[in-house]
Amino acid sequence: MVTLDDIEAAAGRIRGMVRETSVKRSPSLTELAGGDVWLKCEHHQQTGAFKLRGAANAAARLGRVAGVTTASTGNHGRALAHAARQLGLPAVICVSRLVPQNKLEAIEALGAEARVIGASQDEAFEEARRLEREEDFALVPPFDHADVIAGQGTLGLEILAQIPDAATLAIPLSGGGLLAGVALAAKSLRPDIRIIGISMERGAAMAASLKAGRPVEVEELETLADSLGGGIGLDNRLTFGMCRALMDSLILLTEAEIAAGLRHLAREDGETVEGAAAVGAGAILAGKLRAESGPLVLLLSGGNIDPARHAALLGEET
Ligand SMILES: *Cc1c(COP(=O)(O)O)cnc(C)c1O
Repeated sequence: MVTLDDIEAAAGRIRGMVRETSVKRSPSLTELAGGDVWLKCEHHQQTGAFKLRGAANAAARLGRVAGVTTASTGNHGRALAHAARQLGLPAVICVSRLVPQNKLEAIEALGAEARVIGASQDEAFEEARRLEREEDFALVPPFDHADVIAGQGTLGLEILAQIPDAATLAIPLSGGGLLAGVALAAKSLRPDIRIIGISMERGAAMAASLKAGRPVEVEELETLADSLGGGIGLDNRLTFGMCRALMDSLILLTEAEIAAGLRHLAREDGETVEGAAAVGAGAILAGKLRAESGPLVLLLSGGNIDPARHAALLGEET
C-alpha cells in the first residue's frame, strides 16, 4: 500500500537530490486542444527523466546494505546509479552481452559498475536477484515497489502546486509506477481531477492487462516510445491495481502519432523529448485528447533520445 503520507514523506526525503522542474504553457497545443495546455518539463530532471525521484526515494529508505542493483539499462538504471552515488552506495547495474558499449560507458560514467552477464535481459536480471540473495544488495525494481511509486508521486504534488486548477493530467504509461504515484497524489488532494494514461499501440502491457482483468504478457515490439516497452510482471503487486483504480481513461497511439508529437514539441515548443514523453502532444494532434473541461497538463517524462535519432525524426516529413 502507498498513501499520500508516503508521497509527502518522499518529497521531503528527496529534496536536494532532485530538481523541481518547470512548467510552461504551450500556445500551439492550447489552440489545438480547445483549452489551456501546460507542459511539465520533467525531461529537464537530472539524469533526463522522472525515474530519479523513485530511485532516490527507494535508495534513501534502505537500511544497511552492501549496495543497490537492478537490470535496467534505460532511464531507471541511470537514475539508480545516480542516486546511489549521491548516497555513497555502491551500485551494480546488470546488463546482457547485447547491450551496446556506449550504454555501458554511460552507466560507468555515473560511478556504477556495469556487470555484463548472460545473453539476455532475463539472465542479467537473474544476476541482480543473485546479488540480492547472496551478497546483501538491495534490488530496486523500476516500478512495482511502494518506495518507487511514492517517489514518482512527488511529481503529482509538484504539478498541483504549480497548476492548482489543473483539470486533467496526461501521463505516459508503461509499468505504471509513474501513473500510480502521480494519480494517488493528485486524487488525494483533488478527487475531481482526471487522470489519462497514454501508451503506444505496439506492445502496451498495462493496456492488455487491464483489458484482460489481470496481468498478462505481451510481445515486446520495437517502438519509438522505447521507455514505454516491457511487461508489468505477471506477479505484479501494486501498479496494476492502482492503475485500474485511479486511471480514468487510456489512450493508445500509433508510431506516426508519437513521432508527430515529438516533432511538434521540438518545432513549436522548443523541447527535445524522447518518444515516451511525446505521447501527450501526439494524442492532442491525433484528436484523441482535448482540454475543454479545464487546464490540461502533459507530463514530459524524459528526454533521453539519441541526438542523431532526434535529428532524423525532425528531418522526416510531418
Ligand atoms: C519509465 C518511463 C515511463 C513510464 O513509467 P512507468 O512507471 O513504467 O509507467 C515514461 N516515460 C519515460 C521517459 C520513462 O523513462
